[in-house]
Amino acid sequence: MEQLKQRIQEEGKIRGTNEILKVDSFLNHQIDVAFLAQIGQAFRDRFDGCQVDRILTIEASGIGIACLAAQAFGNVPVVFAKKNRTKNIAGDVFISQVESFTQSKRPYNIFVSKEFLKPGEKVLLIDDFLANGSALSALIDIVRQAGAQVVGAGIVIEKAFQPGGQRIREQGVRVESLARIQEMSEETGVQFCE
Ligand code: 5GP
Repeated sequence: MEQLKQRIQEEGKIRGTNEILKVDSFLNHQIDVAFLAQIGQAFRDRFDGCQVDRILTIEASGIGIACLAAQAFGNVPVVFAKKNRTKNIAGDVFISQVESFTQSKRPYNIFVSKEFLKPGEKVLLIDDFLANGSALSALIDIVRQAGAQVVGAGIVIEKAFQPGGQRIREQGVRVESLARIQEMSEETGVQFCE
């Protein structure tokens, strides 16, 4: 998605070499809703012809993206995995573990109420970044625990220099990333794949 690549070039802030990219001006802190609608439509185009009953994402940054994608898919319900087991999901939950990439690097659990994921449903996964693939693997695990089916994963920015994309594709899961970064550094900026 050319406009996304351009915004990453112009507004992205790179930390270290092949470490963290910050896109706080439109995705991770301030949200450009009109732009997210275009992102949602781009996912719709990539998964054209696929049945999608539900979108599953992970809090926090995935939620806005998933909501705009849901509109492009005809207002399917969005469910987000919670990082804390709050009282309101104290009942039956699916649980999976994520190795945190950006925070403390300590593993944490994510939770989805069994009420909102049913056997046989076709579920599209959405997230902002794909790095080592731990967050996405945990979402895939939860969909499988529910007896539902993963349609694929829509990722806004894939850091292709990290192994997540390859690992998940090797499991047979379709991953569609709107921008794939080959390498990045503070000195040379961002280079995209292709
Ligand atoms: P993974 O589990 O694939 O290693 O990491 C994906 C998760 O970590 C995403 O949900 C995203 O929130 C966060 N993440 C990974 N790399 C980056 C990055 O470079 N920038 C930002 N803003 N988040 C990242």
